[in-house]
Amino acid sequence: MRKVLKIGLFFLLAVQAGFPWGAEAHRVIARIAANHLSPQAQARVAALLATDAQAGPLLAAGGGAPALAAAMAEVAPWADTIKGTKLGAGTENWHFLDLAYADGAAQISQRCANNDCVTAQLRMMTANLQSGASLVNGSNTYSPEEQLKFVIHFMGDLHQPLHCATNADAGGNCLYTRGFGEDELHATWDTGLIEQLLKNAQGQEMSEAELASALDAQFASQFAGTTNLTDFDQMALESHDVAFQAAYGPMLAKGILPGVEPRPYVDVDVSQCASEAPDFYNLNPPVDLTALYNSATLDAVGLQLAKAGYRLAVVLNNVLQ
Ligand SMILES: [Zn+2]
Repeated sequence: MRKVLKIGLFFLLAVQAGFPWGAEAHRVIARIAANHLSPQAQARVAALLATDAQAGPLLAAGGGAPALAAAMAEVAPWADTIKGTKLGAGTENWHFLDLAYADGAAQISQRCANNDCVTAQLRMMTANLQSGASLVNGSNTYSPEEQLKFVIHFMGDLHQPLHCATNADAGGNCLYTRGFGEDELHATWDTGLIEQLLKNAQGQEMSEAELASALDAQFASQFAGTTNLTDFDQMALESHDVAFQAAYGPMLAKGILPGVEPRPYVDVDVSQCASEAPDFYNLNPPVDLTALYNSATLDAVGLQLAKAGYRLAVVLNNVLQ
């Protein structure tokens, strides 16, 4: 009975927290980035991760670039795994920057009060990686190695469109949907659509390394244009646009969401969907995404993964010289 309760509690907490840009996406992004690191950055990343419990053993055996890619992929989901633990206390909001439909650059400082958002943390941590400084947050002090793991992770989150947008539904966490193996919009973009990408044209599973290589090849011509953008706030605004075009867009176009659209900014707690976003929470039947999303949606997801990987590489090449 206690075990059943514990499992039930786990699922309740998982649903409430919203599954972040899933572990698969973070690992694929890390692998794409590893492919574009300078020799100097490769050496610095390997040195920083050498003592890491997960990455260290992968690097200890040698193995060159493939081992480094595997090590970076291994640590990419770490920032999610420490949520709710003492080590992750006060980092929950560092994974996103909720911007409403009509929000732009002028609203970012308001939406990121006290630097409690993904772009502000990326600015601080990349500066620290360059100088070798630690980051103090409450009772935790994060080493350069831990900040590297945060940066690898947060560059992924920054490119998950629903980590930079909300339609008064906690970034799609309160919006119930059908299709792609998930039951709300946020999880569909975190995980469901990534799992679609992990199937080849014949419907067979490919590995994360294979997907990383395929995306890197598909979007290679966009590397230079993509990495011209170096400002984290601008990247967030770009993700926000993708969210309202590709994630919410088909629903907004058809007017199938309850209430008046587009909505102004509303700060909805993901654990309070029932009281703070009741029209989404009570939506019945849920939105059928299989009727709204298509191959262009998957291309948008793939491009976000590639952009995140390319920009992560350039960030690390710049700060780990
Ligand atoms: Zn995250």
